[in-house]
Amino acid sequence: MSNSQGEEHTQKAFGWAARDTSGVLSPFHFTRRVNGDDDITMKILYCGICHSDLHVTRNDFGFGLYPVVPGHEIVGVVTEVGCNVEKFKIGDKVGVGCLIGSCHSCENCQEDLEIYCPKVEITYNIVDDGTGKKNYGGYSDIFVVNKHFAVRFPENLPLDAAAPLLCAGITVYSPMKYYGLDKSGLHLGVVGLGGLGHVAVKFAKAFGMKVTVISTSPSKKKEAIELLGADSFLLSKDSDQMKGAVSTMDGIIDTVSAPHPMAPLIDLLKPHGKLVVVGASEKTVELPIFPLLMGRKLVGGSAVGGMKETQEMIDFAGKHNIVANIEVISMDYVNTAMDRLARGDIRYRFVIDIANTLTV
Ligand code: NAP
Ligand code: ZN
Ligand code: ZN
Repeated sequence: MSNSQGEEHTQKAFGWAARDTSGVLSPFHFTRRVNGDDDITMKILYCGICHSDLHVTRNDFGFGLYPVVPGHEIVGVVTEVGCNVEKFKIGDKVGVGCLIGSCHSCENCQEDLEIYCPKVEITYNIVDDGTGKKNYGGYSDIFVVNKHFAVRFPENLPLDAAAPLLCAGITVYSPMKYYGLDKSGLHLGVVGLGGLGHVAVKFAKAFGMKVTVISTSPSKKKEAIELLGADSFLLSKDSDQMKGAVSTMDGIIDTVSAPHPMAPLIDLLKPHGKLVVVGASEKTVELPIFPLLMGRKLVGGSAVGGMKETQEMIDFAGKHNIVANIEVISMDYVNTAMDRLARGDIRYRFVIDIANTLTV
């Protein structure tokens, strides 16, 4: 069940798009499909800037389909509902993350793991099956989506600071659940204190875990502990600090956006420890085998999360008041924001104020 196959793309939409591998974004007119019977249309209020937006617009992965309108941390209000939609009504606050379609019948879809469906449709930068129509993301004014791929926002969460939960939040929450790294008293390492990393610290603390941030940035130590609630901080470039923490961690969530050595991280794990990589580096990395064998250690990966789990994550965040630490920006600041994100100059997520600053 592709949610847009064969449907007319006649709704006028406006956003900002990257036109080539420079990644520079500029105003862009396009169309979205008309609201179908199972769809909702939303007016976008805020959209977070994920490092994946930067990877894709600058073609780090080699599959940029220009023009690219990025954005998969999208929040807004419902402006139209199809006749089969009971879950949402006009005026509801909703969110859309990284996925907007799947087959609904394969093994993974049956288990609410749509992201692992062979026919998963991601929010931007792919061509729809059959139609040739492209998907455009949330750096834009409106969004049309099948009801299954929208989540309801808890009333207490501010829409701007909660927007990053739709990708950053679920991408760290899902592996913590799946790999059993959500148990009170366990010791979790979080590598890379960026958009994903800082919410991983918050979820882990809400689960009652001991958390150590492993970072390349000494300037983040004070904030990691005092502002985000981490228990300790390791500077990954300091071999003495890293040696002092060998065999102390039950698990590690690695959110680093660039190639980096795995061996020092595997050494931090206790026997039976798990290193879960969610950071999307385009390069192949070396894995040291003996430390894995001798400690029966596991290296795994994880992509975003399914829709049921995304709703569960956002409800959990609502209950525990977990949101991202954000810098709200205007649409015309986006290229500067992308440059700053590329050099790690953000504490800890940019969010675009779409409703007030995206003007035609
Ligand atoms: P981000 O805000 O830029 O954070 C990444 C952090 O990694 C940086 O803050 C920095 O932390 C560290 N880092 C950057 N370059 C490094 C290097 N060369 N060596 C070591 N550490 C480095 O990015 P994000 O939005 O959190 O995304 C992180 C990664 O996850 C990206 O690759 C993104 O595409 C990917 N991602 C994957 C999924 C998934 O489904 N698996 C979903 C969303 C995003 P320190 O300053 O603390 O070292
Ligand atoms: Zn993302
Ligand atoms: Zn499927």
